[in-house]
Amino acid sequence: MRILVIEDEVRLCEALVQLLRKQNYTVDSDNDGEAGLDDALSGIYDVIILDVMLPKIDGISILKELRRENMNVPVIMLTAKGEISDKVIGLDAGADDYLTKPFNTEELLARVRALGRRRGGIIEPSSLSCGKTSLDTQNLRLFCGAAEITLTRKECELLEYLIIHKNIISSKEQIIEKLWGFDSEAEANHVEVYVSFLRKKLKRIKSDVKITAVRGIGYKLETV
Ligand code: CA
Repeated sequence: MRILVIEDEVRLCEALVQLLRKQNYTVDSDNDGEAGLDDALSGIYDVIILDVMLPKIDGISILKELRRENMNVPVIMLTAKGEISDKVIGLDAGADDYLTKPFNTEELLARVRALGRRRGGIIEPSSLSCGKTSLDTQNLRLFCGAAEITLTRKECELLEYLIIHKNIISSKEQIIEKLWGFDSEAEANHVEVYVSFLRKKLKRIKSDVKITAVRGIGYKLETV
């Protein structure tokens, strides 16, 4: 799951990023509203944590812009203590949840998990399955029957993406955007390398899913 944190208090922002990364989420952050809106509009995030008071463009305006663009990514607003009206405006503008600073980190994580679940429309986001193969994204474990193997973070993210889009062709560009972000240096051969790692691991546990290359386009996950 990929999360964007838009928060101008640099220390709080850093703390949030660290906290979320520890939970094995992929996290990007921005310290002003303009950069934040830009990233949010990329459409690659599963949850956005958005501060209300931000330089350049405020959080409410960012949220309104996202909803105007029909982007339904779940948004958790962060409001300062006592800014009741911000909460109301935020919820009116289409926020999914809000937290008042200072907030309890466990509570934030619980809400992120809840929104992530809703986004995926999948029973349990930390456990995805396809055929007899299942992926525990929290603990980076891949299972098929009694066999299991550990994945690296990137392998896990790639497989998660392919499982969510099973039977659909995903282009290398879409995969790069999802795994490495918009303006990364990653290239098509990064995807090829991770696909080959994953294929080896799938084979090792005698998985019933395979990653098929669609020439010139990308990849597709299918059950055998
Ligand atoms: Ca702020």
